[in-house]
Amino acid sequence: MIFFKYSVILLLILILINCTPAGNSTGDIPMETISQPIPTPTAVPPTPTAVPPTPTAVPPTPTAVPPTPTAVPPTPTTVPPTPTTVPPTPTTVPPTPTTVPPTPTAVPPTPTAVPPTPTFTFGPLDSVYRGLYLKEYQSSERSTYFSEALSHELVIDLHNHISETAAILNSELKTSLAHYPDLYLIEDTESFDKVRKFLNIDSGGFQPAGFFISACNPTRVAIDRCYGGIYADLSTGDYSWQLRMVSHEYTHSYINKTLNERWEVLAIWLNEGLAQWIENKVVPHDGGYWARLAAEDDNLFPLSSLERVQDWNRRSGEDVNLQYSQAQMAVTYFIDEFGGPKLLELITNSTRSGSVDFSMRALIGIGYQEFQNNLTDWIKAN
Ligand SMILES: [Zn+2]
Repeated sequence: MIFFKYSVILLLILILINCTPAGNSTGDIPMETISQPIPTPTAVPPTPTAVPPTPTAVPPTPTAVPPTPTAVPPTPTTVPPTPTTVPPTPTTVPPTPTTVPPTPTAVPPTPTAVPPTPTFTFGPLDSVYRGLYLKEYQSSERSTYFSEALSHELVIDLHNHISETAAILNSELKTSLAHYPDLYLIEDTESFDKVRKFLNIDSGGFQPAGFFISACNPTRVAIDRCYGGIYADLSTGDYSWQLRMVSHEYTHSYINKTLNERWEVLAIWLNEGLAQWIENKVVPHDGGYWARLAAEDDNLFPLSSLERVQDWNRRSGEDVNLQYSQAQMAVTYFIDEFGGPKLLELITNSTRSGSVDFSMRALIGIGYQEFQNNLTDWIKAN
């Protein structure tokens, strides 16, 4: 199972490195016209004097004309401002700066965990059974189930972390996928094993720290196929680790949703690479350590050997660390060089063509070998 990523070994290593009325006087005119007849007799003399004023009234008319032309100029001066509104648009293009903020978003969650406390409410069922009873926290039409012993602040924080991770992915990949799966937060490994047994999840011998299963699992991994969501054993690491783990598994779920529930057809290094990449966005750390060591000795895996789940799962020891590290660096390099949207295209197109190499040539003009050479140089320099 590729989504069982967190082996104890990796954990130990990570710990080490760790939005006028126009005035109308028409009504006044008839009033003046009606009051005119009365002053008519005495109005004979004044009539002539009334004539003069008429001409003087004419002049003003012409003077009124001039202003018209002066009104024309301002029109052009209003044209310029239009271009100045164009620039700001490009400044919104540089999504690069928006990738910087995510770093601080990892820190803020702590303070935002305080205010949501009063909004805490239990769902209609109060609790659910998944091999053991779990409490339910419901918000934004999605639920987070959790061991009763866990603090509500942490539960709400990780619940909100799903939305924050989705925002980072949508921003980087230029997508707008509203995918918010349920989240299961388990307090310890013994309880986590009960949940795994209930779901009929076989990890193949090692203890996973977290995993995800799709909404109504088409691969029949779970007994009841509608217990989809992200499951996390919170006892496997500290707060920063929990943030990384939830983001990592969410990314797998996000990719699966993007690929219409068919994550199995995607090259593993693209799937795990993006999941590792998001971890570094949420909590910056040196995830490229193992890849750098291998690059120095020209011992990186051929990317083609990091595509199939069988190849991925048969490796052990430091090779496991290297494949995750290399996958992260490969995806990070690809995003830095060609952009998030191109990566998303590679992810979707390669699952249709059946060849990452073919889709890569079509998208960026170079194949696996050249990409790998460039990647190796980049890793050494980073
Ligand atoms: Zn993974």
